[in-house]
Amino acid sequence: MSHSIDLTIVGSIGIDTIETPTEKREEILGGSVSYACAAASFFTHTGMVGVVGTDFPQTYRDIWTQMNIDLEGLQTQTGKTFRWSGVYEANMDNRQTLSTELNVFENFTPNLPETYRDAPYLFLGNIHPALQLHVLEQTHNPRFVLIDTMDLWINIAKDDLTQVIQKCDMLTLNESEAQLFTGHHSLMQAAKTLLELGPDYVLIKKGGNGSMLYSRDDLFLLHAYPLETFADPTGAGDTFAGGLMGALAASGKTDAEAIRQAMVHGSVIASFGVEKFSLDRLQQLDRDQIEQRVQHFRNICRL
Ligand code: AMP
Repeated sequence: MSHSIDLTIVGSIGIDTIETPTEKREEILGGSVSYACAAASFFTHTGMVGVVGTDFPQTYRDIWTQMNIDLEGLQTQTGKTFRWSGVYEANMDNRQTLSTELNVFENFTPNLPETYRDAPYLFLGNIHPALQLHVLEQTHNPRFVLIDTMDLWINIAKDDLTQVIQKCDMLTLNESEAQLFTGHHSLMQAAKTLLELGPDYVLIKKGGNGSMLYSRDDLFLLHAYPLETFADPTGAGDTFAGGLMGALAASGKTDAEAIRQAMVHGSVIASFGVEKFSLDRLQQLDRDQIEQRVQHFRNICRL
């Protein structure tokens, strides 16, 4: 594999404690950039930009290395790694955050190594929009930029967020965040308002109900891959978006058809990811299993 990075991803790295109705797992590897890079790594050479503390286990770093994720953009700061804990309700749709300890994440300033600045694809995962802008300013004209966000930034940093949205090619957010940002209950109206800010695509995630890709002249609806059971939906959106960007980078394209095909791949990777906690399932996954499930997904969706 050549040294150059095709896809740069920035986001959070967390040590999570997660409780579902059937299981509790403590101090497991999480964070948006961990899920997204793991998903992308199946398709393309991916560089990680994030921060961990001096307490971060070497075994977790080894997981990323085994997945061929480039770690030159990973910073280690004195102190503790970001920690998050949450509990899922019986239906697994709703989740409550029990605690968030920012630790070294509080003073995170993402710096891109020289080798990451020319990457043609960039995924600005969920961090403060001012930091997303800071990353964007360090890059050299990426071909395609995706940004993700969350309700917190819509509530406390909407001006900064609007600025990043104006500079990206695609925005992804979930249903309730699209409604919160725009004040529209209708997703069609919300997407139209978001498109008016500048991006060519708005990708609205609907959890277990799939996703919707809006552009000025088109709409594409994709189901989620149907699973009989799953263990933990944490990070599913990051896995979906990371897989999508990895597959898009591997295609070398940015047109609507390439994005639709990349969404199919992202959705399939996310379906594997939720089968187990953390990166446990993705660590055991290979390209053949992915392609088999992609084929099955296409058959059942008549795609
Ligand atoms: P998601 O399921 O998409 O909300 O992503 C869950 C991941 O996000 C977990 O692994 C957490 O470590 C991480 N996370 C939780 N809260 C935050 C936050 N405020 N900022 C950044 N990352 C977070």
